[in-house]
Amino acid sequence: MTRVYQLTIGSKQLPLSSCLLRGGTAELVDFSYSFWLVDHPDGLMLVDCGFRAPAAERKAISFERTAVQALELLGIGPSEIESIVLTHMHFDHAGSLSDFPEATVYLQRTELDYFTSPLMRFPLCASGLDADDLAAVRGLERQGRLLFMDGDTEVVPGVRTHHVGGHTPGTQLVSITDGARRVVLTSDAAHLYANLSGGVPFPVLHDVPSSCVAFEVINGLDDDATHVIPGHDGEVRRRFDPVAGTPSGSTVALL
Ligand SMILES: [Zn+2]
Repeated sequence: MTRVYQLTIGSKQLPLSSCLLRGGTAELVDFSYSFWLVDHPDGLMLVDCGFRAPAAERKAISFERTAVQALELLGIGPSEIESIVLTHMHFDHAGSLSDFPEATVYLQRTELDYFTSPLMRFPLCASGLDADDLAAVRGLERQGRLLFMDGDTEVVPGVRTHHVGGHTPGTQLVSITDGARRVVLTSDAAHLYANLSGGVPFPVLHDVPSSCVAFEVINGLDDDATHVIPGHDGEVRRRFDPVAGTPSGSTVALL
């Protein structure tokens, strides 16, 4: 049996208008920062790993806890994490890799190619990447703990990545299937439910056509037995059941 949890590490209030390409209303939305734990028969896996307090301070994010502290609430130590699937390399998803000394990290090859390309001379292209996180990925590569993926991959039985690009060149979704039930973690292919329902991406964007195709991929995975989880919507904390013994809103069970 596979279980999937969302663990939230921080949040900020953002106007909806700043979350939708071509704008929206001024209504404030609860924009949350999370990562995901997959408790799979083959071992414990993370999807992304959040970030630490200094990054939160730089980005004016109300910080609640690190990924390690969030896992501690479930009685899980960092060395128990066997693998981390990175959906992409932005600071809020790849910001604490060195806290997991035993984990093998999965990343789309195109993501590292892009974030080490000459395009990084343009601040707009490099935005979202933290130099320390890139150094951590390079360190993992030297240690043989970085596994590159070239497109869609089944990481372990029932856990699949879907390379869509759009937000960044290597952005990937993760679908987790257990029997008839499925969770689709969209990460930043769809930040909010509003991005999903409108088929409109968040304005931090590499490639509009790929973003449109990403919504098509997400919709193709969705059915009555599937929960589609947008990457940054605080509403997820209210829609799903909290895990007993964890602070309110910190940890919810998705599958
Ligand atoms: Zn993000």
